[in-house]
Amino acid sequence: MPTRQTKEFTCVQCPMGCLLTVTLEDGAVVSVSGNSCPRGKAYGRTEAVHPERTVTSLVGILDDFHPLSVKTAAPIPRERIDEVLDAIAQTVIEPPVEIGDVVIPDVCGTGVDVVATEARS
Ligand code: SF4
Repeated sequence: MPTRQTKEFTCVQCPMGCLLTVTLEDGAVVSVSGNSCPRGKAYGRTEAVHPERTVTSLVGILDDFHPLSVKTAAPIPRERIDEVLDAIAQTVIEPPVEIGDVVIPDVCGTGVDVVATEARS
């Protein structure tokens, strides 16, 4: 007999904050309800089995007191966030930097780049 489980999440994909109910059978998602749009359904499916987050942080700039804001170009697995933040904290780059420039390619082997979200000359 399959093991059935439900999980509830607030969808964070837009300000409406729909309450999602995700039903799993033997660890696999079988339904998502409470979503008002397809984005919420996709979010609920991912959040229930493999939560991901986009990480934002700051990197050092050589000879500049003010750090540069960066983010991951795509969400990364939630369990890798501390490791990625450590890698970002240890990074110092040289200007000039444009918005969207890759600051750390394939950060921690996640397959996701860290990119600049501001420019610096
Ligand atoms: S389900 Fe759709 S409408 Fe509801 S919070 Fe998520 S993105 Fe917004």
